[in-house]
Amino acid sequence: MSRVYNFSAGPAVLPEEVLKEVAEEMMDYQGSGMSVMEMSHRSADFQKIIDEAEQDLRDLMKIPDNYKVLFLQGGASQQFAAIPMNLMKNKVADYIVTGQWAKKAYQEAQKYGKANKIASSEDKTFSYIPDCSDLPISPDADYVYICENNTIYGTKFKKLPNTKGKTLVADVSSCFLSEPVDVSKYGIIYGGVQKNIGPAGMVISIIREDLITDDVLEGTPTMLKFKTQADAGSLYNTPNCYCIYVCGKVFKWLKKMGGLEEMQRRNIEKAKILYDFLDQSKLFKGTVVPEDRSLMNVPFVTGDKDMDAKFVKEAKEAGLVNLKGHRTVGGMRASIYNAMPKEGVEALVAFMKKFEEENA
Ligand code: PMP
Repeated sequence: MSRVYNFSAGPAVLPEEVLKEVAEEMMDYQGSGMSVMEMSHRSADFQKIIDEAEQDLRDLMKIPDNYKVLFLQGGASQQFAAIPMNLMKNKVADYIVTGQWAKKAYQEAQKYGKANKIASSEDKTFSYIPDCSDLPISPDADYVYICENNTIYGTKFKKLPNTKGKTLVADVSSCFLSEPVDVSKYGIIYGGVQKNIGPAGMVISIIREDLITDDVLEGTPTMLKFKTQADAGSLYNTPNCYCIYVCGKVFKWLKKMGGLEEMQRRNIEKAKILYDFLDQSKLFKGTVVPEDRSLMNVPFVTGDKDMDAKFVKEAKEAGLVNLKGHRTVGGMRASIYNAMPKEGVEALVAFMKKFEEENA
């Protein structure tokens, strides 16, 4: 078996320990005589899997009792529609546009009401987070929306916006469980799991109970109504059972590793190795202003497209894969999620040093 260091932005690297465990349980899950893939979502075995997954996530994030945890399909993109459908009582929402994913959410919301772009960093290719301390929040806004970690551009909100009392909704797809978080500051905190948590095909949405009502926009599909899913404990229809099972394993792995405080310590340590190298390199350059740098997604460039392509190709040959930047920005991007070991980042930096010497 030969494993590579996988710097993909998602689907992404998962903890080897978890992969081995699910492989061992593939043919016979804990004496059930079947794989979790083959198991009824109405069975006692599966109910235990989903209940434990929820409880472990609640423990990790210290989720207050007045929040529901929903395991939903349709990915993060489905939430771009579900959020306005469920929350836009006044048909007004304020969006802070810090990248493609925030922009997509903003554009989707325009279908359902008045979505206002109250701040943006598009003027400098989304390379920074705008000052959000005193924004023109709409008096009747149903919520203020952010994408907390911008996967493509490698920026992260280090401080949450001042929403002036309005409900904060955050997409945390690419920083989920990477550090401790105060859930009580959010109305909804949600993310696709295929980056930091599990296989693709599911979004976890953590929603304050008062936002889960029957008062949704006319025409909201039953499946997209938060109340439908909350009342059924995420089992209104057949959920992504296998994904819930793998996510549950990752939650247990995170607990065993020391929880989110320890993840934050490791993530800061790993990111520092890469950013310190970039800051002194004569060939490579980080693209984000230092104060807004993400710990999870690190974009960098040489400034020469051919050199970038040569780097990505040679890195791949050295077992460092998926380093090509997003198609909209070019260059390189290293995604260094929870499951990327420090050794992987060290191997990348060693390779970059060698490449720099050879191409000076
Ligand atoms: N939000 C962010 C921050 C993302 O990085 C992504 C995926 N790259 C999405 C949303 C979309 O996720 P999905 O493919 O699960 O719809």
